[in-house]
Parts: sequence; structure tokens; C-alpha cells
Amino acid sequence: MRVVIIGGGPGGYEAALVAAELGAEVTIVSDEGLGGACVLWDCVPSKTLLTSAQAFSTLETAPDLGVHFQGVPWHQVPTYEVDLPTIMRRVRELADSQSEDIGKRVEADGVRFVVGKGSVADPHTVEVHDRDGGRLIERLSCDAILIATGSDPRTMATAPTDGEVILCSQEVYRLKEVPERLVVVGAGATGAEYATAFLRFGSQVTFVVSRDRVLPGEDEDAAMVIEEVFERRGLETVKNARAASVERTSAGGVVHLEDGRTVEGTHVLLTIGQVPQSGGLGLERLGVGFNQSGGVVIDGVSRTSVPNIYAAGDVTGKLMLASVAAMQGRIAMWHLLGQAVSPLRWDAVAATIFTDPQIATVGLSEQRAAKKDIDVVVHKLPLAGNSRAKMSSLHDGFVKLLARPGSGTIVGGAVIAGYASDLIASISAACFNRLTAAQLSQAFQIYPSFAGSIQECARRLAGRIQGTYRY
Ligand SMILES: Cc1cc2nc3c(=O)[nH]c(=O)nc-3n(C[C@H](O)[C@H](O)[C@H](O)COP(=O)(O)OP(=O)(O)OC[C@H]3O[C@@H](n4cnc5c(N)ncnc54)[C@H](O)[C@@H]3O)c2cc1C
Repeated sequence: MRVVIIGGGPGGYEAALVAAELGAEVTIVSDEGLGGACVLWDCVPSKTLLTSAQAFSTLETAPDLGVHFQGVPWHQVPTYEVDLPTIMRRVRELADSQSEDIGKRVEADGVRFVVGKGSVADPHTVEVHDRDGGRLIERLSCDAILIATGSDPRTMATAPTDGEVILCSQEVYRLKEVPERLVVVGAGATGAEYATAFLRFGSQVTFVVSRDRVLPGEDEDAAMVIEEVFERRGLETVKNARAASVERTSAGGVVHLEDGRTVEGTHVLLTIGQVPQSGGLGLERLGVGFNQSGGVVIDGVSRTSVPNIYAAGDVTGKLMLASVAAMQGRIAMWHLLGQAVSPLRWDAVAATIFTDPQIATVGLSEQRAAKKDIDVVVHKLPLAGNSRAKMSSLHDGFVKLLARPGSGTIVGGAVIAGYASDLIASISAACFNRLTAAQLSQAFQIYPSFAGSIQECARRLAGRIQGTYRY
């Protein structure tokens, strides 16, 4: 079986590893390094940037823990210097080295990598042109094709980015110094993460959000914690504000809102979503279906409407997460190569927003349960009572679990904490394997640990379902 994969992000390279393992002859065609936008521009760079920002949070709690800095009076947080060029160099080097590592891994598994722009000439031929789409480099014959071309930052014609003052998420890394006044337009995960980082680096950040709260798609209690933390750290939020245009001025940039208000900054960062990169691939001609947002329509096993053409990742316009892209890609190859495969479990997807504290969620949210009239029992346990949180002088956050009332099956959860992205793992496993709250509470956790709060929350939730815990 000869498989050609267009796009070298997690949707593409994870699929390649599975297909190669199952004996297929695999070629990845990508117009940039392996790892795709995920590793080179989006997920990995933003998390590396946030790791530097996290260092400032650690320093902030140091005096409370009895760590003092010579020459700085007791209980006064020292002023720090942010070396942005070094931070950005580290971001770039780490992304490039991660991309190289992925390259070595797929090569070791016998996958061929061709650099260029891929398009589908017919269901059994992929054409590779040079990166600007001009010269034809190669025609690849194949039995199956996987489209994993990802997404691009959404742009506004009335807000052209210039890579200096008006920036999209991928242009942030060109900054040479910390913006004095940064306006972040867009209240989703990406905006919240960059706002977190630049607040820590000392920017005065204004968050322009189109709804009445930040992170409108997230657990409401979690969003409220983050709003509170943002406010405490000096972030200003302009709510119910839709950006109509952004203009460069002599002092920086100005955001004109639809209602006539304006918000000014030295820099403006647009984080208004991502658009599937599904154009120019020749798919329309072949009858591949698209949804309203331009995403390639697929079924539960990642097949498009053309039987031997599969699609995975952001290009499908579904949940735009690296983990989802990778799973869609693997499922495609398992299906193609005759393995027993189940459709992707949308009811058990885990995600994290890397704010400080982080927001990690899995499965059903309380808001969605209410909207869909799904009966759930919910228990929320603040982290403030957790002994590990007290030792670390961390007070914000909570654990929340959702279970079905009769069976007690865990159907969702949220953790708001420093390392929520790791802590969510046990709830994710419970959700995926349909464990009950009682079962989750009986699994051992370490004492003292943040994870202990998950066990305690599960114990109380099980008690509420059984009628023994009434508080
Ligand atoms: C700022 C930001 C932060 C994020 N952080 C996280 C996070 O923390 N966790 C998480 O799970 N997700 C995160 N995401 C989402 C995650 O990056 C995406 O879901 C993921 O990259 C999707 O992977 P993919 O394989 O579909 O596409 P990509 O990673 O976009 O890779 C697709 C590749 O295909 C290439 N390509 C496109 N067209 C062609 C063509 N015609 N020929 C050849 N190559 C082509 C592209 O240039 C790209 O290199 C973040 C996104 C953003 C914007």
C-alpha cells in the first residue's frame, strides 16, 4: 500500500508513523519542516514562551516561601529584566530542534519526506511543486492520500498585519522588545495564553473580547478564575467589543470597535481564530465535501467523500487541537490498513489552555450538559484546601467532576491549577474508560499532591450520587 500524506504536522506525521509500522510505503509532502505549524509556529513556540513567563510566577511566590533576594527588602518582589531576544531565540531553537527530532524519527521508520507544495491531481496522484507553487518537482502515484494541511490564522481585510506593530499569532516571535502596551483582540485560548505571557513580561495588556467574559467557550467557573487573576495582575478587559478594523499610527496601533469606541496600544495582536487550509489542493474537482467554514468533511474514520482520500487535523475544521489531529490521522491509517478501529471519541477529548493557572478540561462541560438537557451531578472542590497547594502558596483553582446520576459514570471534568495539563490525565482516563466516581476515588493518589483533590472530589461526588454526602 502506497500512502501519500500532504502536510507534516501532527495529523500527518503521527499518521505516517502508524502507516509505516503497519507496512505501508509512506511519503510525507510538506512545505515546511516536520511537526508543521504546530511545532514550528503555534503550539510548541507558544508553550515555550509561556514556560519563560512561568519562571516569573515562580519568582513572585518566592518571598512567601522564605526565599529572598540580596539587596531587596523583605516581602518586596524584585524587579526583573526580561531578555526577550534570548527568550525568542530559545523558542526558535526549541521548535527547530523538535522538528528535527520528528524528522529523524519518521526517517528511522522508513518514511520518505519531500519538501514542497502538494496537490491532488487525481485520487491516485499527488503532484509536488516547489514551495511557491511554481515548478513541478515530482508526481507521486499512490493507493491512498491523507490531507493534513492544517490551518492558518484568521485575518481581517480591515486589519492587515505588518509583522511589526499589528501582529497575528505567528508573528509574535518577531518582536525584539516587550510591547509597552499590548492590545490582544480575541478572547479565546490563544489570546488568553499570549495575554498571560506578556502580562508576566511586564506589558500593559488590554484584552478586547466580543462577549461579556473571557474564554466564552470554556467552563464558566474556570473563566471567572482566570478573569480574576488577570484583573489582579493589571490586565484591562474591554467586553462586548467587536473589532471593526485595526490601523497603524505613529504611536503604535489603534483598534476601532464596531460601536465606535477605540482601543490604543503600542502593539496589537490579532487572535481571532484559525481557518482550515483546504484551498488549492484540487479537492473541489474530485467532489470532496466541505463544511461552511471550509473544513474538509470526514466520517468517523477520517474518510472524505472520495473513498481513498482521508483528512485529519485542523483542515477538517473540527476541534483544532494537536492531540485531535494526531488521533484523526492514526484512525485514518488504522482504517485504511485494515485494523479494527473505532470512531474518534468526541465525548472524551481533553484540552488545556496554558494560562496561569492552567485550565484543563475533558469530556462534557457543565454548560453543554445544561444546553443539551443532559442530567449530571456536579461537584466542585476548591484547591485552596489542598495541602500541596498551601505548601506552594498557590490559592487559585479548583477541581470539578461531572457524573451521570444513576450510574455515577464520570462524563467530564475540569482542573484549574498550575499543572492542570498533567493533572487532567486521571480524569481523562476515567472519562474515556467510563469509570464511575467511586472507582476514580478508590484509585491511589499521592499524599500530599494536587491530584489528591481529584480523588477527594470524586469521593464526595460518589457520596452525593449515593446520597451519603450532602454538603
Ligand atoms: C497559537 C496556537 C497555540 C496552540 N497551542 C496548542 C496546544 O497547546 N495544544 C494543542 O493541542 N493544540 C494547540 N494548538 C492547535 C494545534 O497547533 C493544531 O491543532 C495543530 O497544529 C493541527 O495539526 P495539523 O497536523 O492539522 O496541522 P499543522 O500543524 O498546521 O501542519 C500542517 C502543515 O502542512 C503544511 N501544508 C499546508 N498546505 C500544504 C500543501 N499544499 N503542501 C504541503 N504542505 C502543506 C503547513 O505549512 C503545515 O506545516 C495551537 C494553535 C495555535 C494557533
